[in-house]
Amino acid sequence: MKIAFIGLGNMGGSMAQNLLKAGQTVFGFDLSEVALQHFAEAGGVVCESPQAAAKQADVVITMLPAAKHVRDVYLGEKGVLAVLKAGSLCIDSSTIDPQTIKDIAAVGRAKQISICDAPVSGGTLGAKDGTLTFMIGADEATFNAVKPVLSLMGKNLVHCGDVGTGQVAKICNNLILGISMTAVAEGMALGVKLGIDPQALAGVINSSTGRCWSSEIYNPWPHICDNAPASRGYTDGFAAQLMLKDLGLAVEAAEQVEHPVVLGHQVQKMYQQLCQEGDAHLDFSSIMHQYTTQPA
Ligand code: NAD
Repeated sequence: MKIAFIGLGNMGGSMAQNLLKAGQTVFGFDLSEVALQHFAEAGGVVCESPQAAAKQADVVITMLPAAKHVRDVYLGEKGVLAVLKAGSLCIDSSTIDPQTIKDIAAVGRAKQISICDAPVSGGTLGAKDGTLTFMIGADEATFNAVKPVLSLMGKNLVHCGDVGTGQVAKICNNLILGISMTAVAEGMALGVKLGIDPQALAGVINSSTGRCWSSEIYNPWPHICDNAPASRGYTDGFAAQLMLKDLGLAVEAAEQVEHPVVLGHQVQKMYQQLCQEGDAHLDFSSIMHQYTTQPA
């Protein structure tokens, strides 16, 4: 396979390296010189534009910050759809709104180019280890066609439905995660304020009905879970600003279909506040700071 990889940042850089390790030829482009340097050191072919990369490839993968970058790389004046051959495959793994990828896929369809959304979970560690989960929105034929390339970067490939549904799955999951993390932070902080030992409280929650991933594996109170970011000053995790971005996508998508997301709105405001107060780069479990500045 000849693969063009556009967006070689924290996630894309490692994903492209896994393709190279598997013996694929990868043509890469990024706006960052540092990202390109790492890619070249790993054996990638550096190109001077997304079009230059796409011209040499049968498969294009994008891993970009947000919808505007994705739209530009596919449909912009120098977008890749203008130069790809009929029969090419495109996979967007960025986390964006479902409508953008549907629009791009429609343009692709008219040129006989198959396009799918395949956002990921598993974070930077999963990207490095090649253990990502891909949530794939595609017709059956496109899903079968992208499986071999995605399996070089991930362990779990979930076909969610037609194009756009991968993004729906991703943003709904992260909506629940943002809310559940905030709920655990609220309960833990209240309990401690009322005088219970945090270890005792977490023990009760984790063997009772309040138990969830945020309480059991990733508890936002320090030293409940040794490997959670809360136990190392909320560093090296999933940044609060990325959670804020994902909550924004969920709230926006809900507004488009006039569906209520009451808790989502509230938690979005709390993450906005957290980021404005300087914690944007800390792990999202630092939402605890909205309840107490210094958990013991
Ligand atoms: P990042 O900022 O580290 O990487 C994005 C890269 O895209 C950067 O290197 C940037 O220079 C490049 N870029 C921007 N515009 C470009 C353009 N027009 N052409 C080429 N390159 C361009 O971000 P990341 O952490 O790798 O995240 C990428 C996507 O994955 C985001 O949508 C994010 O929400 C999603 N995601 C991230 C994580 C995570 O833990 N970091 C987890 C799941 C999903």
